[in-house]
Amino acid sequence: MDASTIMRAYAALGDLTPMLTDCGLLCSAACCRPDEDGQGGVHLFPGERAALGDCAWGRIVPGGLAPMLVCEGPCERDRRPLGCRIFPLTPVRGRSGKWTVRMDARARAMCPLARSGVGGLDPAFVRAARDALRVVAEDPEGEAFLERWFHLEEEYRRPLW
Ligand code: SF4
Ligand code: SF4
Repeated sequence: MDASTIMRAYAALGDLTPMLTDCGLLCSAACCRPDEDGQGGVHLFPGERAALGDCAWGRIVPGGLAPMLVCEGPCERDRRPLGCRIFPLTPVRGRSGKWTVRMDARARAMCPLARSGVGGLDPAFVRAARDALRVVAEDPEGEAFLERWFHLEEEYRRPLW
């Protein structure tokens, strides 16, 4: 997937964020902090590693799906990856077969917005996140990545026993 597709996905989201106010103030930006093991990060969509270029605020490590960005400080906001831009949403196929969004199961552990569900988020953000993922899905490599992302996120929905 080339960089222009990921840039179109970023443009679909524009400056929209989950809330009209800075939700990072609710949780001290919990989704930007590594977990207790110093791990955790955001998977990079196809083409994002190249689009990201030099990244002074974090390191790139191997991840289950793709390279991951693990942040060590605040990012240059305009350069944050798509996974950060859509969080706490995650891709899922709707009944029509088109990609849409739902609350990411991984948000339950750290995001105060998870409790109120998708309906508690700014509707314009929800629509824009869906549109951004549909831009990604136009590209076969992007669509295959969405499938893998979806299956990984499904794992977090399974009961542990
Ligand atoms: S954890 Fe949730 S509420 Fe906190 S900054 Fe991330 S998206 Fe916003
Ligand atoms: S790139 Fe920015 S928004 Fe994403 S986890 Fe790092 S600091 Fe947070």
